[in-house]
Amino acid sequence: MKYAFFKGKIVPFADAKISIMTHAFNYGTGVFEGIRGYWNSGKNQLYILKLREHYERLQRSALSLKINIKYSMEEMIKTTIELAKANGYKEDVYIRPLAYKSQEKIGLGLTGIDDDFCIFLAPFGAYLDISNGIKVGISSWRRIASHSLPQGAKMTGAYINSSLAKAEALEKGYDEAILLSPDGTVAEGSGENIFLVKDNKLITPPLAEIILPGITRVALLELADEELKLETIERHVKPQELFQADELFFCGTGAQISPIVEVDGKKVKDGKVGPITKKLQAVYFKAAKGDDPKYSDWVTPAY
Ligand code: PMP
Repeated sequence: MKYAFFKGKIVPFADAKISIMTHAFNYGTGVFEGIRGYWNSGKNQLYILKLREHYERLQRSALSLKINIKYSMEEMIKTTIELAKANGYKEDVYIRPLAYKSQEKIGLGLTGIDDDFCIFLAPFGAYLDISNGIKVGISSWRRIASHSLPQGAKMTGAYINSSLAKAEALEKGYDEAILLSPDGTVAEGSGENIFLVKDNKLITPPLAEIILPGITRVALLELADEELKLETIERHVKPQELFQADELFFCGTGAQISPIVEVDGKKVKDGKVGPITKKLQAVYFKAAKGDDPKYSDWVTPAY
């Protein structure tokens, strides 16, 4: 966190400050991304994972909140690489671009309000336990219905829902929460998508389930098919299926592939990390860290 991109230039992180009257701070009118950079010591390189895909989602999110990003895709990519270079970390990092209603203005609405774009970057290891697995609880909070917020957009304000669910899970002694959709089917985690393994098939809720369209989710559907030759199915999942699954895991930029070994105090199978989850982790990390030439287009070398 030495440098950030703020108001059009790379500045010391401590100088990247917004006013307390900023529209996005008051009303949650921002959109953002979470991008990982993996440090590969063997190659002496920082590989940024799925950089373009994240900025494509940011552009889509911004459209849904009428936020005008004044930078092109190529400019955002170039700036991200410049910022990574300026920070110069030789460890895994998390990159957080935000586009937001930046004007100091009281009053709701989305039009006629100035926008801005910024990026910060921080060293970032594992977010959840990817080796031994995590314990989750089904949240009493449900995902916000698609008729209440634009679907598929990653909006700062919407993360109140995720934060409530995560806080409740932590209070109950779990590591993470599973949120159901308004109609009671399984949606996702507070900040990750969910997969089930049942009878050698990989199952995940469809995008219609008002989940965030995860970039890791798509990557894993590809790897499961291509590398593990597994049948993959996108369909509605009933909560009781969580208790009958052979394996369960979360996936996301932060979560990576986090095995779930317990749901609501009940073990998933024998409570150990399953073989398919382990195989997927192996192929995923190889690709994400820039060690698999077949997936070299997944990563952007920063240095
Ligand atoms: N769902 C939610 C609610 C999230 O915040 C995230 C993280 N961005 C994900 C799923 C996973 O998305 P991705 O794989 O693109 O990081």
